Amino acid sequence: MNKTTNRPRDGALNSPWQKSLSIPVQKPSGDMSEGVLDCLVIGGGITGLTAALLVQNAGKKTMIAEAYCIGFGTTGGTSAHINTFADTSFAETENAFGQEGAQLFANAIRDGSALIKTNIADYQTDCDYESKTGYLYAENQEEVKQLAEIYKGARKVGVAVQYVSEVPTPVPFQQALAFAGQAQFHPLKYLHGLQKAYLAAGGIIVENTRIDQVITEDQVHIAGNIRAKKVIWATHMPPNINVLNFECAPYRSYVMAVKLKSGQYPDALIYDSQEPYHYVRSHVIDGQQLLVAGGLDHKTGHEDPEKAFDDLEKYIRKYYNLSSIKYRWSSQYYIPVDGLPYIGQLPLAADGVYCATGYNGNGMMLGSVAGKILSSLVLGEKNKYAELFSPSRIKPIDGFSEFVKENADVAYHFVADRLTIHETDSVKLLRPGTGKVVGVEGKKIAAYRDDDGIIHALSAVCTHAACIVNWNSEEKSWDCPCHGARYDWSGKVLTGPATRDLQPIQPDQH
Ligand SMILES: Cc1cc2nc3c(=O)[nH]c(=O)nc-3n(C[C@H](O)[C@H](O)[C@H](O)COP(=O)(O)OP(=O)(O)OC[C@H]3O[C@@H](n4cnc5c(N)ncnc54)[C@H](O)[C@@H]3O)c2cc1C
Repeated sequence: MNKTTNRPRDGALNSPWQKSLSIPVQKPSGDMSEGVLDCLVIGGGITGLTAALLVQNAGKKTMIAEAYCIGFGTTGGTSAHINTFADTSFAETENAFGQEGAQLFANAIRDGSALIKTNIADYQTDCDYESKTGYLYAENQEEVKQLAEIYKGARKVGVAVQYVSEVPTPVPFQQALAFAGQAQFHPLKYLHGLQKAYLAAGGIIVENTRIDQVITEDQVHIAGNIRAKKVIWATHMPPNINVLNFECAPYRSYVMAVKLKSGQYPDALIYDSQEPYHYVRSHVIDGQQLLVAGGLDHKTGHEDPEKAFDDLEKYIRKYYNLSSIKYRWSSQYYIPVDGLPYIGQLPLAADGVYCATGYNGNGMMLGSVAGKILSSLVLGEKNKYAELFSPSRIKPIDGFSEFVKENADVAYHFVADRLTIHETDSVKLLRPGTGKVVGVEGKKIAAYRDDDGIIHALSAVCTHAACIVNWNSEEKSWDCPCHGARYDWSGKVLTGPATRDLQPIQPDQH
């Protein structure tokens, strides 16, 4: 099992991508308060690195400020499929944004994946990139109907797809589609390649540098002692309360990398159509062929992560001859209410402050194309996708049930989280290494018992929008069910829109 700690990530479990990929980070030279950067990029995942490299290569002076280390966020916990199709199907996109919108969305995905390929070639990055065929299958009549819609929508926008009778899966299915030209890679080796190229081009990276606020004076954006003409929030979700909190729903997704007794691994990317869905592919990690299987997605802070892993393991055991589990990990992504990502000027912020979020499970391509869109905006160039993905677009939500569902859920938590719960002595029952929210004298306390048996008590009130956090027993984090803010066991902000740690509770405050 994956016990050794490598690069840190925003969860306690290690993904296979975290094996030591250290690259010395350049310290900022000189006093940053003296100069004005052309662009400050906040966040060092695939979005931030791609955008910063493009702007730096255009001859501008840029800096990446990362709260922890490059790849700490979801890019370090992804499953790294590169697709020509997306979680929001082209048929759904056409319903909501018209045929032109669906075509642009398909082109954007294609451009994102092409940019990854170009970067790999240009920067000679060895990142396990392999082309594969992707299969999507239906196991019942309802799913057969969905497949027909997906097929029609993909054909209309020129994405290569065909019905096939053979799929390299042991799962019995009724119908299946094959998508040509998919790919997979090692996301952190890829990021490492971008990082090296960025530093070689004169870019500056500062790690362990959290930026929670940018203020604007005389058209200069200021974050601490850093001053910049433009700012990109490449933090997966911009921090603090903003309109995007209400337009994106945070989800957790689960992955395992396992060894099979049979030694036979699928040479393809394979997806079922269940809700929540499952997928499998294979990857050679440290010279060892592994089956990478994942899915079981659910809204952050809702449902039991331990059960999600149990169900995923059961699924793998049902269809494959599992020998041993080498890795298990989970990570977070954001589902946009109208199906498309939000990339561009951050609503209600000063001009020249940009953001990118709501990629669903397609952030490899969309994070890459976001890099292109955002760099165009910084450089004052036109970009053909800017309008479609504008965070200020009027949402054609009629075609999407997610909007009502997600907002109803957030509203529920705002109310329910403020009611008193009747638990008192539960803290005593906590096992070492576990946490729980308990009611103590009308207050909600996030209590964690460490391995030495010591109880650490925090206010369970999320510092972002005052919902009540839940314990994530697998990643050992406090996860907010409303907007996806996440904190480690000690209350320190890990990810999401919160900017302040959970408040410690002193014994006399109970
Ligand atoms: C389990 C899982 C599997 C997935 N599989 C796929 C897949 O197969 N294909 C695909 O295309 N997509 C996939 N996705 C989605 C994809 O991984 C993400 O959309 C993508 O990695 C997001 O990249 P990002 O750079 O925008 O954000 P991140 O990688 O999260 O990077 C944001 C960075 O910003 C930093 N940060 C945050 N706040 C601050 C702050 N205030 N100051 C400074 N720094 C800050 C964080 O530490 C982090 O390093 C998957 C997602 C999950 C959860």
